[in-house]
Amino acid sequence: MTREEVENGTDDMLIDGSDEQQRQDVNAVRHEVNANYLKSYYGKLFPVADIHKWLSYGNDGKHPRCDESYFGRREFSFTLENDVYLRFRSYNSPSELEKYINDSLPFQIDIGAVYSVDPSKRFAYAQSGDNVFIPVERELVFDMDISDYDDVRYCCSGADVCLECWPLMTISIKVIDTSLRDFVLIVSITDDFGFNHILWVYSGCHGVHCWVCDAKARRLSNEQRGAIADYFHVYKGSENSNKKVYLPGPALHPFLTTSYTNVLKPFFEEKLICSQNLFSTEERYEKILEMIPDESIASELRGKWQDKKRPPNSKEDFHIHRWEQLKNSLQSGKHLATGLRRCIEEIVFAYTYPRLDMEVSKHMNHLLKAPFCRVCVPIDPNRCEEFDPTTVPTLSRLLEELNSGASQMQIDSENKLKHDAKSKLG
Ligand SMILES: [Zn+2]
Repeated sequence: MTREEVENGTDDMLIDGSDEQQRQDVNAVRHEVNANYLKSYYGKLFPVADIHKWLSYGNDGKHPRCDESYFGRREFSFTLENDVYLRFRSYNSPSELEKYINDSLPFQIDIGAVYSVDPSKRFAYAQSGDNVFIPVERELVFDMDISDYDDVRYCCSGADVCLECWPLMTISIKVIDTSLRDFVLIVSITDDFGFNHILWVYSGCHGVHCWVCDAKARRLSNEQRGAIADYFHVYKGSENSNKKVYLPGPALHPFLTTSYTNVLKPFFEEKLICSQNLFSTEERYEKILEMIPDESIASELRGKWQDKKRPPNSKEDFHIHRWEQLKNSLQSGKHLATGLRRCIEEIVFAYTYPRLDMEVSKHMNHLLKAPFCRVCVPIDPNRCEEFDPTTVPTLSRLLEELNSGASQMQIDSENKLKHDAKSKLG
């Protein structure tokens, strides 16, 4: 087993518990490897000072009217060795947090809400009769995982991801990021402003997290969070229903129209159809035909596609040709009256629209893995198509780079010393 496998397998092993002996062996290796790696990572690379600065939002003791208790009321949660899971930890300073992390070497760090009182003292407050332990601030967060797209990707499944299916995440970032910045659309919830302070992070578990950090976002109630999450909740995929998306009203919401025209439709037609070979086998095209409510159109298309062997022309032409046939059938004059044109949009939405983990966004007290924790790296939403999840830094690679960087520096400085000594000697 390579170090990488040990490292990448950690999350699965925490959850699954197949063979006990094997599990113990793996745990022993994992412990040794991880303890060394984590020690170096937290000691040399984990940016505690930056995380403290971020989560203080100016309440850092340097401004006259700042709230010095602010950072200390933030919940941290840690997953330690042997699946020990600790919640409601809090720290008054970056050095306190740093010391705890360096001493305990957690496998995972999660960030929770800012509470009304110090979370670690919540029982003392409860006993004093003042039952005031409630979350008062929390970034608005979104969580998307590529494994939720298994019904529309054929290259990978589960936690696996490659450059063919990762663009499903990329377009989700584009759709959500754009609408969060133009939030004028959700007038009833947020008046007429958009959000500006948005952090996108590769979750390290083959998905992405979004942290909306504007003060207005942090102060949203659970009810308002629920309304925002519902607003994005277009994809309602269910095993038992052919209707995977719900597009209400006679015309698409302006936000959905923009997403459809600018992002989803071009991506579906120019990339996804071919990269996932959506029309190549009966099983695959049947999934699409099932979404057509008019059985006569579906069977007409099925008839055209069933008998035909793949023509000798290019793969792209083959898939696009079938998609054009489907669009023409749904858009032809005789079907216009039946409102089937919406069906094309529904197919595109079902295959491409962001699939959010709703519960994460709805509740202030929900935890989310901290950025830079083994190793959740930020993604620039304006250049998200350049992000490659297959080359994301792993703990071992980072430390190797650090070590080789250090040894190179040592060589450089030794060379300089030799050079200086030589020149001095003349
Ligand atoms: Zn893939």
